[in-house]
Amino acid sequence: MGSDPSPEVLNSTKLSPLPTHDEDPPSTALLSFNTDSSPSDSHKSTPSTILFISLTLISCIAFSAAAAFAFLFFSAASASASSPTSSLHTPKSRPLLKLNRPVVLLISSDGFRFGYQFKTLTPNIHRLISNGTEAETGLIPVFPTLTFPNHYSIVTGLYPAYHGIINNHFLDPQTGEPFTMQSHEPKWWLGEPLWETVVNHGLKAATYFWPGSEVHKGSWTCPVKYCMQYNSSVPFDDRVDTILNYFDLPSDDIPSFMTLYFEDPDHQGHQVGPDDPEITEAIARIDRLMGRLIHGLEERGVFEDVTIIMVGDHGMVGTCDKKLIFLDDLASWIQIPPDWVHSYTPLLAIRPPAGNSPADVVAKMNEALKSGKVENGKYLRVYRKEDLPSRLHYAASDRIPPVIGLIEEGYKVEQKRSNRRECGGAHGYDNSIFSMRTIFIAHGPQFERGRKIPSFENVQIYNLVTSILNIKGAPTNGSASFPESVLLPPA
Ligand SMILES: [Zn+2]
Repeated sequence: MGSDPSPEVLNSTKLSPLPTHDEDPPSTALLSFNTDSSPSDSHKSTPSTILFISLTLISCIAFSAAAAFAFLFFSAASASASSPTSSLHTPKSRPLLKLNRPVVLLISSDGFRFGYQFKTLTPNIHRLISNGTEAETGLIPVFPTLTFPNHYSIVTGLYPAYHGIINNHFLDPQTGEPFTMQSHEPKWWLGEPLWETVVNHGLKAATYFWPGSEVHKGSWTCPVKYCMQYNSSVPFDDRVDTILNYFDLPSDDIPSFMTLYFEDPDHQGHQVGPDDPEITEAIARIDRLMGRLIHGLEERGVFEDVTIIMVGDHGMVGTCDKKLIFLDDLASWIQIPPDWVHSYTPLLAIRPPAGNSPADVVAKMNEALKSGKVENGKYLRVYRKEDLPSRLHYAASDRIPPVIGLIEEGYKVEQKRSNRRECGGAHGYDNSIFSMRTIFIAHGPQFERGRKIPSFENVQIYNLVTSILNIKGAPTNGSASFPESVLLPPA
């Protein structure tokens, strides 16, 4: 990629990303022509003088008009002749200056709700935004908007029903065996994550934490040097420094694809909700880490070569003000015992035991919720999974329990009234809810500077990364044409 791009193109791209409109002197010239040709002192004249002056004046006007037309014609001609040069202003991919091949660093800041970047001064994140490409109204997570399903969708390009991680925790429908966030057996993790695709192509990958990265799949064996075992107590600075150290390796050993993960600001968001000063502080810390990263890459002369893709997995919404729905309140219509419920909130997932028809459970629950007699009942709607809106793509796996409840933004479902702490933050809701959106910021040789793109679902990111690395990826739920619509054309 980028073998010998013209330096002119590079300079024009760097210095003036927006084409300037500076070739319009004709209009000013025409204006002065008209002003000059206006007669001034023709009062008190004889008829012959008047005739003479009139003829002169007509000739003058005719001449001016002819001159004006000629000027217009030639300027139009020269404008059209110069138009091919304006295509040189179309930005193209920038060549690698130091690295031998493209490197993509995928960074996740957990629970970085879209808009958090404006909570405080974030000069480093904004440096990436203003010199890179940003999803203007945020990145759309997959449903359910939970951490494990989304992180794994980002690296596989698949919806949870297809990559298998349908919740942060669930039960195998056949064996009843539980999946937890510590389950690393390959049988749970379907699809082909980016680190596996990358090593399949003979390139190196490195993961500094990412759900699924410790799972041995295909040619990915989570090698000690390049795959960190999850440990939330590792300081964020150390994680950044380890990534930077990879760039000190001999060029053939520098991983082509790296992940970097921070638990913040999700950690604070759950405790205090999205509008607490603790979130502001967490965002400032994330920005400082991005500054540490950028500075380290600059010191090594590779900042402009490395593609940084900064994302979150989902957003966050405040949960407070008695926005609660209790399943026990439905008891007059149907008893929902706790052992039927695989998850409560914000994704209500119920697997009724054999002998209880899901359709019957759904009908009775909705009858109760619509009756007006269940507190906040109208904020929960229950579906057979195959009847969920198709845009959620949440049916095609037997791991998904047959009865799913969609909860309105900010509401929570619990079994029964309790003294449990009510206020905080949550995510997991319908991915069409704006507060569930997160960020997409991409900076690198193939991303246009200062460009805003429409929001898109995170299942597109896999194809984007394989396109940047110029390798053939596995089939995904993303669109094959998406990378072309976002990346700069080759130089
Ligand atoms: Zn998360």
